[in-house]
Amino acid sequence: MSDAAPGPDWDLLIHDAGRLDEVEPVSIGIRGGRIEAVAPSLEGTAAERIDARGGLVTPSFVDPHFHIDKVLSRDLLGALGPQEAFDRAREVKTRFTVADVEERASQALRLAAAHGIGRLHAQIDVDFATRLVSFEGVMRARDRFAGVVDVTLAAFPQEGIVADKEAPALLREALEMGAAAVGGLPEVEASVADQRTHVDTCLELAAEFGVPVEMHADYMDRAELKTLEMLADATVAHGMQGRVVGSHCNALAVYPDDEAGRVIDKVLAADMAITVLPIANLQMLGGDGRTPRNRGSSRVKELLDAGVNVAAGADNMYDIWYRFNRMDPAELAYMTVHSAGMRTDEEVREGFEMVTTRAARIIGAPVPAVAAGSAADLVVFEATSLVDILRRLPGRRIHIKGGRRVGGVEGSFWSAA
Ligand SMILES: [Zn+2]
Repeated sequence: MSDAAPGPDWDLLIHDAGRLDEVEPVSIGIRGGRIEAVAPSLEGTAAERIDARGGLVTPSFVDPHFHIDKVLSRDLLGALGPQEAFDRAREVKTRFTVADVEERASQALRLAAAHGIGRLHAQIDVDFATRLVSFEGVMRARDRFAGVVDVTLAAFPQEGIVADKEAPALLREALEMGAAAVGGLPEVEASVADQRTHVDTCLELAAEFGVPVEMHADYMDRAELKTLEMLADATVAHGMQGRVVGSHCNALAVYPDDEAGRVIDKVLAADMAITVLPIANLQMLGGDGRTPRNRGSSRVKELLDAGVNVAAGADNMYDIWYRFNRMDPAELAYMTVHSAGMRTDEEVREGFEMVTTRAARIIGAPVPAVAAGSAADLVVFEATSLVDILRRLPGRRIHIKGGRRVGGVEGSFWSAA
């Protein structure tokens, strides 16, 4: 008979935790990586305790769309004009190595872990330039961060399907290596017919491998673009309803209202969801590059009102597409509500859901909650309200993944004397 001493009652016990929409603080008891109890007060021994002091405890963040293979590659381009830089981006990609991609992706994942991202869905270029080098590098970084940030990979034919003859076979290889989704960018093709081939090929591959499609659509803020509509039509034609996400969708914001309404009806009929990428697109797009007639955003509120699930992703970090970003989804929520003109308390709350629960639904992940039975993937904030989280960025916080402390931000907390 062994008479080993029993372990503590809880692996982690969080006291005095605030929750969204609730007034009274609670205790959160965690065991075996899951939330086992949420109650006004929990007793017992605990391996670790956190006193939240009334700070909000929320589900951890989910980034549904991030080009992690290209992060921190901006310095490799050299100081050039925009078009030269884009041309050089392809050449730079041919010089990526598995080890270099793994290292840059790992730097991004360290930031993600610090800020409270528990799950990240990455778009990885798979094309003639990088072949499967980027994909392999990100797979290695994913493995290094197992249990800290859950990473899934979408295989993304950045250089086209018709324009890049090598892409279809490489996409197939990436799917055999475990790609969780097929990406796409029909606008890179030379004609509308080629765009259609691009969309159809991606949908066919996804159906064959039983994975969803997450396609860049109507990326540029130009009203003549119709790739979101094309994607919605093709989704129905291929019987892929409920399995397709359109990303960016900035042209939707510059369509005349009646046309936008018609396209949103098609998005609904195809049971599609939409991911917007406000921080990168606010800088990249907007009128003619001189006069900011619009701000590289989509019709977020109209889509939400129509019943479409909309999430927000970070897109890029210090690469050809976007100069900034420090992987903080609270900052992304802050920029999302600015970009989309979300002003009321309810809309600000929706902006936060766009980087947590809505983002989880978009990538088909379990929807996180601060409730018994859910995974203990949480962020404990010092701020006691959602508005204060966004108003006092970055703010102090602790990131808990699977019931374990994996990161945090010491933050800045200021006050006037
Ligand atoms: Zn993107």
